[in-house]
Amino acid sequence: MAKVRLEEIKRRFNNVTAIEDISFEIPDGEFWVLVGPSGCGKSTILRTIAGLETATSGKLFIGDRLMNNIPARQRDVAMVFQNYALYPHMTVAENIAFGLQMRKVDTKLIQERVGTVARSLSLEHLLDRKPKQLSGGQQQRVALGRAIAREPQVFLLDEPLSNLDAQLRDDTRAELKQLHQELGITTVYVTHDQVEAMTLADKIVVLNRGRIQQIGEPQSIYALPNNLMVATFLGNPPMNILSAKYTNDGFDVGEQLIAVPEVVKEKLQLRPGQNYDLGIRPEHISINNNSALGVQNSALSVEVKVVEPLGRETLIRASLPGSTVLLNVQLGGNVRVNVGDRLSLQLDLTQLFIFDSITGDRIWPES
Ligand code: ATP
Repeated sequence: MAKVRLEEIKRRFNNVTAIEDISFEIPDGEFWVLVGPSGCGKSTILRTIAGLETATSGKLFIGDRLMNNIPARQRDVAMVFQNYALYPHMTVAENIAFGLQMRKVDTKLIQERVGTVARSLSLEHLLDRKPKQLSGGQQQRVALGRAIAREPQVFLLDEPLSNLDAQLRDDTRAELKQLHQELGITTVYVTHDQVEAMTLADKIVVLNRGRIQQIGEPQSIYALPNNLMVATFLGNPPMNILSAKYTNDGFDVGEQLIAVPEVVKEKLQLRPGQNYDLGIRPEHISINNNSALGVQNSALSVEVKVVEPLGRETLIRASLPGSTVLLNVQLGGNVRVNVGDRLSLQLDLTQLFIFDSITGDRIWPES
């Protein structure tokens, strides 16, 4: 096990800058997830750590050792890819043992290690099978087993679950988390799936267009995203973003006004006539049954366009008059609403985000 440190890593391919200014340090034994949309540079970072890619500039350390000029095979990292890449003519046991045999580890030790790895991944009954006699999930577990058996300093996983169907993906994700808790190997995991990122990570690195947008614990990033990109990327359904013009009376969103919380007025110098992007998560909106109590100023009239009953919760999408935005709202599972209903929705303004409409940076809540 070892810490991994990147210092201002940059990678250019001819005139394309794939990643820039990438700096972070993963403490020994932690599980970090690199997440972001397609093309954001996450695989390039992983491949740079693995030694499959050479940084144009910057420094990479594994442990305290500078790795820039160390070839991949001497880095003591193990990488698992999306497509498993098992050897088809070898059995499961031979596949798991392969890396150890290449390192000329003692045969008895190899047998022991294969046994231990197979037990921890529930593969004992499959050791004599060939990859094509296995399901996708089993094949992926063998690929993980082959990487684990080597007991690398660092474990690098590139979208390892994306070829699995939904159920298997959930199961394997949980197994992976458990496995990491048992082994404590420093892990870097790449995915574009925010659910995987949120559920697996000690820390998430959110990337966009080759640059780091935010690094933090999943819940901290969810609670306080740095900018619009992060705010809308983490969370499903995503945070609602409403473009609004500030007036002295409130935020004008189409034909309605949202009150500006007093504390925002006190702390921020909002400029009348200026545009802002307001963010509110679907779980912070509810049906307003209380209009008599004078809470209308944070309520919005909407028309229900889509209803998705999911049992535990009901998701709706609702249109705002004078706006093209469809508001995502997460309601309780027992709430009954129909397409076409007109509702008054209450926004929990203590959970309101305000973003600069030009830069996308969060200006409220303040850090
Ligand atoms: P995905 O989720 O689609 O795999 P990613 O976030 O892993 O995407 P990268 O594969 O790291 O993204 O690519 C980052 C950027 O660098 C992209 O714009 C990509 O087109 C570019 N890129 C990557 N490899 C090369 C290459 N060998 N030559 C030129 N451009 C490249």
